[in-house]
Amino acid sequence: QVVTRIAPSPTGTMHIGTARTGLFNWLFARQHGGKFLLRIEDTDRERSTPEATQAILDGMAWLGLDYDGEAISQFARADRHREVAEEMLAAGHAYKCFSTQDEIAAFRDAAREKGESTLFLSPWRDATDHPDAPYVIRLKAPRKGTTVIKDQVQGDVTIQNATLDDMILLRSDGTPTYMHAVVVDDHDMGVTHVIRGDDHLNNAARQIQIYTAMGWPEPVWAHIPLIHGDDGKKLSKRHGATGVMEYAEMGIPAAAMRNYLTRLGWSHGDDELFTDAQAREWFDLSGIGKSPSRLDMKKLANVTGWHIARMEDADLIAQINEYLALTGQPALSQTQQDGMTRAMYCLKDRAKSLPDILDKARFVLENRPFDYDEKARAALDPVSRGILRELTTQLQNASWTRDTLEGVLNAAADSHGLKFGKLAGPLRAALSGRTVSPSVFDMMLVIGRDESIARLNEAAS
Ligand code: GLU
Repeated sequence: QVVTRIAPSPTGTMHIGTARTGLFNWLFARQHGGKFLLRIEDTDRERSTPEATQAILDGMAWLGLDYDGEAISQFARADRHREVAEEMLAAGHAYKCFSTQDEIAAFRDAAREKGESTLFLSPWRDATDHPDAPYVIRLKAPRKGTTVIKDQVQGDVTIQNATLDDMILLRSDGTPTYMHAVVVDDHDMGVTHVIRGDDHLNNAARQIQIYTAMGWPEPVWAHIPLIHGDDGKKLSKRHGATGVMEYAEMGIPAAAMRNYLTRLGWSHGDDELFTDAQAREWFDLSGIGKSPSRLDMKKLANVTGWHIARMEDADLIAQINEYLALTGQPALSQTQQDGMTRAMYCLKDRAKSLPDILDKARFVLENRPFDYDEKARAALDPVSRGILRELTTQLQNASWTRDTLEGVLNAAADSHGLKFGKLAGPLRAALSGRTVSPSVFDMMLVIGRDESIARLNEAAS
C-alpha cells in the first residue's frame, strides 16, 4: 500500500511550496488508494509555535487536503528516536563521541587555515575506552564507496561516502537530530514514497545511510524542484503571495488553486486546465519537471476563470460566503443569494476571482437609492437622463425578452443618432450605479421590468 506524507515545520505561515508538496503527496496517495499522513516537525522548540501548526491545518483544510489518521507530532516521539539510536549503538552501527563542540571548532579552524578538508572525523569512532563524560551518538557511516539516491525526478544521484561525516543522531542532551527523527518517523509511519522539495536532496543521502544501518527498506524518493518567481529567482514576497492562505484571501477558489499548483512543476501533455478527477487520474511522478517552476499570476487568473465558469451556482455562492467570512465581511443575506443565483449565468463568465463576481453582482446586491460612483455620475449627464426618461415609457409595454429589449434600445439609440455604446453607458450607470457591470440586457432580464424602470427613473430624476 502506498503511504505518503507531508512533514512541515511549524515555524510560520503555510508556504505555497509546502502546499504544493502536500498536494502532490495527496494526489499520489489518493490515486493509489493509499494513505496520506501529516507529521508536524516540531522538534525545534524555539521556532515551533501552535499558531504555525494551526496555519498548516487551516491551509490544508482550505485546499481540501484531507489526511488520514491524526496529525503526528515529531517532538512527542523523542523517546522512540532515542530508542532507535540506542539500538544502533548496540548493533555497532553508531558510536559514542566525546569530542566537545570546542574541540570540533578548533579542528575546523586549523583545517581551514591549512586549506585542508574541514570534514570532522571523530577519534572516538573505534574507541573502546569511554570516559564518564557527556557524549553524542554518531552514525558509523561507511567511509568508502558511494551512496546512491535513486530519485524519481532527479535520476540517480551519487554521493561519495568520503564526503559525508558521521552525522549526529542523538545530541548530548538526548534529543534527536532532525535527520535521525525524519528517518525513524518515516519508517514507523510506513511511508513508502517521500515526495518533497529538492532542498532536501542532500539530506536523502544521509537518511539512506540510516535506513541501511537499520536494515529498513528505503522509501521511493522524489525531490521536486522549488517554485521560483516569474524572473526565475528564488520566490519571495515581491513576486506575489507566498502563503497559501493569501490566495484564499484573494478569493481564488480552492479547486482553481489545486489545478494551478498541480500544474506548477508537473505536466501532462499540453493540459493546463483540469478537474480534480482528472488530476487524480493523470498525476504521476514521471510528469514532474527537473527545472524550477515559475509563479505566474496571469496563468493563475486564467485557471481561476475556467474553474469559476464551470462551478455549480450553489457551490460558488457557498464559496463566496466562505471567502466573506475569511476576510471578515458579512455573509450574503438570503435575498442577496437569491439575486446572485438568478444573475450567476452572467456573473461567472470571465470572472477572475470570487470578489470579482461580487463586484459584478453589485446590481443585484445593492438596493436603491444607488450610491453612483464617480464615473457613473458623469455618465448620467442631462442629455442622457432625458433619453433614459423616454426609455421608461417605451419599456413599460415591451415584452421582457432579450430580442425585444435589444430592439427597443437600438431604436432609441438610432432616434437620437447615437451608437448603441453611447446609450449603454448611461443605462449601465442607471442599472448598476457603476460603469463596469454585466451587459445591460442581462441586468434588465435579471432584475425585471419594474425594478429596471424604477432605476431608470431614479437616475433620470
Ligand atoms: N520539515 C521539512 C520541511 O519543512 C520537511 C522534511 C521532509 O519532508 O522530509 O521542509
